[in-house]
Amino acid sequence: MTAPAPKPWILGIAPYVPGRATADDGRRVVKLSSNENPLGTPEAAREAYRSAATELERYPDAAAVALRGALADHYGIEAERIIYGTGSDEVLHLAAGAFAGQGDEIIHVRYGFAVYEIATRRVGATPVVVADRDYASDVDAILAAVTDRTRIVFVANPNNPTGTYTAKAEIARLHAGLRPDILLVLDQAYTEYLDPEDDDGGLELARTTQNVLVTRTFSKIFGLASERIGWGYAAPAIIDAMHRIRAPFAFGIGAQRAAVAALADHDFVARSREHNRTWRAWFAQQVDAIPGLRAVPSKANFVLVTFSGALTGEAAYQALMAAGYATRWLPGQGLPNALRITIGAEDEMRAVVAVLRDAAGAAG
Ligand code: PMP
Repeated sequence: MTAPAPKPWILGIAPYVPGRATADDGRRVVKLSSNENPLGTPEAAREAYRSAATELERYPDAAAVALRGALADHYGIEAERIIYGTGSDEVLHLAAGAFAGQGDEIIHVRYGFAVYEIATRRVGATPVVVADRDYASDVDAILAAVTDRTRIVFVANPNNPTGTYTAKAEIARLHAGLRPDILLVLDQAYTEYLDPEDDDGGLELARTTQNVLVTRTFSKIFGLASERIGWGYAAPAIIDAMHRIRAPFAFGIGAQRAAVAALADHDFVARSREHNRTWRAWFAQQVDAIPGLRAVPSKANFVLVTFSGALTGEAAYQALMAAGYATRWLPGQGLPNALRITIGAEDEMRAVVAVLRDAAGAAG
């Protein structure tokens, strides 16, 4: 032994690849690669954040009392059943860290969020990857993959990178089919983009059962991705276990204040949802009209576009990058012939469609 040896399961992790904001030559491009909010951040959240500039020498409130209180009021949930982390990314890691380890299995869908596999391997557990049904989560396939070793099932709803949605009855069926000792993590990073009638019942399940953790984030519709504020809601015993391993100070004073302010700006959230609904529908319709391209039906703030004609996913990615638009090409996630494209501002969506149409035409 000449040097510290990483655990073998750590070396099995393929590092997370973030969305790009620049082209290969360093040029800044329009970022449609990380599902951020094109409307920006609520003004009140910016102000609240600025108010923390005079307290930078202080540690933030480790218990995040004000934020948990605001979340409890807003969603009608109990503050003491809320966990929080450096982005919902950390909350997902906490779930794996508290409930799985070597010899255990964690299930996620084939076209799922990349952090699930990283969180699984990090604790030495084995990822069990389940086939999709036309890109969507397949409840029967998930249930069929359960073994005695299964400890956690990760399901995002809507799902990233597909944008697909699992209806409330299907989520209930999934939960009902799992042993009570298996933790069902319902990752609702994009839930605010759903129409109210599409509530998947996750918070209610987390409230009324012992084995459901719902995770949420301020990175998407609340426009605070930079501040890394995520949280989760579950039965007290689940939350208690996760608190034991969380970072003591997950996010800063400015982040906590900004999140409270963003939560109160109902108008900003409503405008963001409306913008997304309008331009997602328009974009999907335009994409579907281009031969060889298909917009996978999305309920999130992005659309997965698949390419089956002469224009490949890679060529489309390059054409968009050359025109100044960064999108997410995901060959590493088994999607070499697809691009995930965030719903941006109107002019950006119009420009992306024009580039795709030209590129498809040129490819023949
Ligand atoms: N879950 C899903 C499904 C996501 O797409 C993302 C963001 N890429 C996250 C969780 C994590 O978001 P954050 O850490 O910014 O809260």
